[in-house]
Amino acid sequence: MGTLLMLSGGADSAAALIKLLTDSDEPVFAHHVVIHDRESATRHKAENLACDRLVKYCREHYRDFVFTKSLWDFPLPYFGWNLTLCAFVGARVLRSFPAARITRYAAGVIDEPHALGMWKERMEEARATFYAGLITARLDYQPEIIWPVAHMTKNEVLDFLPPEVAEMVSFCRNPVEMWGNRFRPCGKCISCNTRKEVGRFPVGGP
Ligand SMILES: [Zn+2]
Repeated sequence: MGTLLMLSGGADSAAALIKLLTDSDEPVFAHHVVIHDRESATRHKAENLACDRLVKYCREHYRDFVFTKSLWDFPLPYFGWNLTLCAFVGARVLRSFPAARITRYAAGVIDEPHALGMWKERMEEARATFYAGLITARLDYQPEIIWPVAHMTKNEVLDFLPPEVAEMVSFCRNPVEMWGNRFRPCGKCISCNTRKEVGRFPVGGP
């Protein structure tokens, strides 16, 4: 028994992690893919840092869990959906811990923003990718895909998070790098706009 969650460094997967750590005593495996793509030269740094801070906080305030990382450096034009990449990597992470018998794969995303579209197709693609990645594993059980925060709105996620966590998560798609491992949201990307729409854009940056 155990649950694998892909951590992005953002609010949604942070909320999913806290739910997994507090809803039961079952082992939790969290994995962060450091994603470097053409969209931003800085986002992967801010997300990586946010993950490290989040993991430290959750270990101190909830309980211990396994945390691992991998790197996806992809400079070509078509990056694709993160949900699909996470499913691909997730199957491999699951297979890397056979003795743990990880029975659940948690996708820590909310069903927003609808502006990106194709939500149903994205879920289908992720599901198919995850199970395709397990074919040769010949598991004697079928891991289940769960969506711990899919039903929540962005505001509900931010209200659910402890204030310190809401401040440490990364959300901007192209943050401005400042001195001393500090990043400021750009204020103009789709994620910054979503935060502004729900009235949760930090004044002065995180
Ligand atoms: Zn931004």
